[in-house]
Amino acid sequence: MFSRREVLKNVAIGTASSIFLPNSLWASTKPKKEKLGIALVGLGYYSTDILAPALQATEKCYLAGIVTGTPAKAEAWKKKYNIPDKNIYNYQNFSQIANNPDIDVIYIVLPPSMHLEYTQKAAKTGKHVFCEKPMAMTAAECEAMIKVCKDNKVNLSIGYRCQHDPNIQAYMKVAKEKPFGKVKMVTSAAGYFDGRTNHWKQNKALGGGCMGDMGVYALQGARLATGEEPIAVTAQASTTRPEIYKEVEETMMFQLEFPSGAVASCMTSFGINMNYLNVSYEKGWLKMEPQSGYSGNQGSMSNGTIINFPLKTQQPKQLDEDCMALMNNTPLIVPGEEGLRDIIIVEATKKAAASGQRVKL
Ligand code: NAD
Repeated sequence: MFSRREVLKNVAIGTASSIFLPNSLWASTKPKKEKLGIALVGLGYYSTDILAPALQATEKCYLAGIVTGTPAKAEAWKKKYNIPDKNIYNYQNFSQIANNPDIDVIYIVLPPSMHLEYTQKAAKTGKHVFCEKPMAMTAAECEAMIKVCKDNKVNLSIGYRCQHDPNIQAYMKVAKEKPFGKVKMVTSAAGYFDGRTNHWKQNKALGGGCMGDMGVYALQGARLATGEEPIAVTAQASTTRPEIYKEVEETMMFQLEFPSGAVASCMTSFGINMNYLNVSYEKGWLKMEPQSGYSGNQGSMSNGTIINFPLKTQQPKQLDEDCMALMNNTPLIVPGEEGLRDIIIVEATKKAAASGQRVKL
């Protein structure tokens, strides 16, 4: 295990470093690709309903391949998206992607418990890795993911689509430029009602629980609005459906203390529809609602500024910006180190809820 000091040092180094260009992609003798080929791993809700359609609207990448354990899904996707047989993989022949020049990026869209294993497998193929949030089950797993990508000289991006949204970037800019002075208090909430009873989101071993799922949006709201990393957390887990939420939290309230003295009161849930961010500064306020939708994030500030940049959906922009970063050798907006920062706090929140104690970070 790394100490927090070592983790933060590594995070800082990781963020500052330039991105990797594997020889397979950018050997000087090969022409640069116009569009990168992406292979989606795990064809559940997010791949099917959101990422595959988003990849029809991208300019810098396209849906080149799939990895699925279900032959019927492979057949349906092949027809719908015109995917050649040679770009269709299963979990047994996954490593053969290494020899496929059509695929430049492997995008992991599996339950969180599988993110480490498949990031390791993907990095070893020499392809770049995109991985969905929550990055992993523990900070130690996140560190292993960052390491395996570095060792194999491939880049790792986490699917925090909101950081690509100009509406979210607008309040990140307020945190940086401080037109209203210091942040005093943040209230941040993200949750929805999940009617499922037997999904991985209710299963501890698969990485369920609202804290890693919608909780990272509430947490990102607080971290991005303050522009600071919390130094301590307290938390309370609860459920109104104990027959369903036996292993993981249905609702988590958590409170963050920041070095400047700012505090945040955050809430996430699989039982409550909510999505908002309120920031009180020394000399003003900012509100967002919703704060982490796929589209439609909007808000206002006490000086009359409206935050409402038009954006059809975040995912095509996320995919294009990440692929442009890979093509141009510029830093990724959300590298693995940013996913790690959240998981350190997610872990501390769970520890605080279980112990009833304030946990220092
Ligand atoms: P899902 O349950 O709909 O799909 C999961 C996929 O993984 C399915 O195709 C399933 O067959 C496959 N799978 C392989 N092995 C499995 C196993 N042992 N147990 C369960 N499923 C297994 O989930 P989803 O909603 O598509 O979520 C997948 C990932 O995407 C998660 O990390 C989730 O947090 C993330 N996600 C992100 C966003 C976002 O806005 N960024 C939105 C939704 C989901």
